[in-house]
Amino acid sequence: MKKILLALMMTALLGCQDDVSQAPHTAKAPQADVNKIKAHITFLADDLLEGRDTGSHGHEIASLYIASQFAQLDLKPAGDDGNYMQRASFRQAFLEQESPKLVLKTAEGEQSLDYPKEYLTGASTVYEYAAVSGQLVFAGYGIVAPELQHDDYANIDVKGKVVVVLSGKPKSFPSEEGAHFASRSEKNRHAVEQGAIGMITISTPLAEKVRPYQNLLSYIHTPSVRWLDKEGNPSNVYPQLKDSAYFSQEAAAKLFANAPMSLEQIYAELEEDKSPAGFDLPVSIDMSKTSTHNLISSPNVAAVLPGSDPDLKNEFVVYSAHSDHIGISKSVAKDKINNGAMDNATGTSMLIETARMMSEGPAPKRSVLFLAVTGEEKGLLGADYFAHNPTVPIQNIVADVNLDMPVLTYEFSDIIAFGANHSDLQQTVSEAAQKAGLTLSPDPMPEQAIFTRSDHYAFVKQGVPSVFVVPGWTSTDPNVDGGKIFTQFLHTNYHKPSDDMNQEFNWKAAKKFAEVNLQIGTTIANQAERPKWNDGDFFGKTFGIKN
Ligand SMILES: [Zn+2]
Repeated sequence: MKKILLALMMTALLGCQDDVSQAPHTAKAPQADVNKIKAHITFLADDLLEGRDTGSHGHEIASLYIASQFAQLDLKPAGDDGNYMQRASFRQAFLEQESPKLVLKTAEGEQSLDYPKEYLTGASTVYEYAAVSGQLVFAGYGIVAPELQHDDYANIDVKGKVVVVLSGKPKSFPSEEGAHFASRSEKNRHAVEQGAIGMITISTPLAEKVRPYQNLLSYIHTPSVRWLDKEGNPSNVYPQLKDSAYFSQEAAAKLFANAPMSLEQIYAELEEDKSPAGFDLPVSIDMSKTSTHNLISSPNVAAVLPGSDPDLKNEFVVYSAHSDHIGISKSVAKDKINNGAMDNATGTSMLIETARMMSEGPAPKRSVLFLAVTGEEKGLLGADYFAHNPTVPIQNIVADVNLDMPVLTYEFSDIIAFGANHSDLQQTVSEAAQKAGLTLSPDPMPEQAIFTRSDHYAFVKQGVPSVFVVPGWTSTDPNVDGGKIFTQFLHTNYHKPSDDMNQEFNWKAAKKFAEVNLQIGTTIANQAERPKWNDGDFFGKTFGIKN
C-alpha cells in the first residue's frame, strides 16, 4: 500500500515538473527502467546459466532469479502450494542412433533403407522399443479439415495399416489455419481415428525448400520431450501409432515404383495445388527402433498482481515469456553456449519489468498473472502444461499477452501483433500502440504462421484469445530496415551461441517495447468487457469459447 502511494506521489511530482499545463489528474504511465531491463538480460544470458536448457541447472537458476524478482515486487505466488514455482515432470527420450531398422517388402523382394541417409525417425516418448509391420496406404496430406472441404481419408481404408502422408498442406490453405491442420499432432490424431498403426511422412519439393533434408540431419541427437500427467503418462502422444519415419524424396520414390501414381506425378499435382487422392501402395513395411527414457523436472514460475475491482479481480490477464533456451551445442566450436539473449532473455526481462511497472502503479481492475514458462524450445511444453494444469481457473483467463524474442537492436516506430486479428484484441492493441506513440502494422510474414509457434498458442488451444507482440519493421531512422535486421538475426544468431550480449542492443527500443506491452496488458485488464474471438473465427470456433 505504501509503495503504491509513494509511486503515485512521485508520478504527480514528476508530472508537475514536466509540464504544468498538462491535465493535472491523469497519472503518467509508468516508465520502464533501462538499467533493470539490461541487468535482467545480462544475468539470464550469462555463460554461467549454460543456455538455460529445460531441466538443466542453468534453467533452475534462471527460474529462481525470476521467482526472486517476483518476491521483491511483493507479487502473490501462483505456482504450486503457495510457491512461485509450478514444477512439472517431463519424459526425455533419446534415440539409440544404431537402432533404427526399416525394410520395404514388395512382390520383387525386400529392400532395407539407410538411417539417417534415406529416412529419419525421432525418439519415441511412448515405447523404449518401438516396432510396426503393415501394408502401406498413401493418404495425401493426411489432413481432415471439414471447414476447408478437405478430407484425405474420404475413400481409403487405413485400418491396421501404415499411412504414407505428404509433409505440409495444400498451398491454398490459409496459413494460420493451415499450420494447425498440418501440425504433427493433428495428422497423428486423424490417422489414429482412422485406425492407422504407423505413419511415414514424405518430403516434398516445397518442404525441401523450407527445411532441406540435409539440414534436418543436424537435429538427430535432439531428444523428444513430453510433459507427464499425475499418473506419469506422457501428454500429446498417440500410442496407437507404433512407429513413424520421415522419408527423403529419393526414399519416397521407392514406395511409388509400382503404384497407381509415381512420386513425380504426385509432385506435379502439388505444383498445381491439386491434392492427390489416396490409394493402396503395393508395399509393406517392417520398422523398429530403440529409445532410452529419462525423467526430468523443470519449473514454470508464476505470480499474480491482484486486481482492484471486487468482481473483475477474479479474472486474469496472463503475460507469458519462455525462460528456457536450447542449452549447450554439441559442436566443436570454441563457444558452445547458446546464451539465448534475444531468445528469450529479452522477453523474460520484459515480463519482470512489466510486473514491476504494474505493481508500482495503480492496480488494474483485473488481476494480472506473470508466467515464465519452461520447455518452449521443446514444443511449447511449459505453457501447454500450465494451460492444462492452470493454477487459476482457465475460464477466468481472459487473454494471454506473449513475449518471445523481441529483437531489440534498432529503434522501431511500429509493432506487429501476431494473432490480434482473430479477436477484438486487435482494437485493444491498436489503442495501446497509439498511446505509446506507435503504429500497429499487419503481420509481414503470414506464411510463417507465427501465431501457432509460440507459447500463447497453448492458451489459444484452451480457448483463450491471445496476442504475441514484437517490434515492427519500421524504424524511426529511415536508413534502418527492421525487416532486414530481423532476417539477418534469424540467419546469423538465432539458436546459435552468438545470440549473446555481444549483440548491439538498443536500450531505447527495449524501454519502448516494455512500455507498449505494459500498455496492452493494462488496457485489457481495465476494459469493461473481456476480449472476444471474432464472430466465426476459426480458432474461436475450433477450441471453443470456454467462458
Ligand atoms: Zn527459440
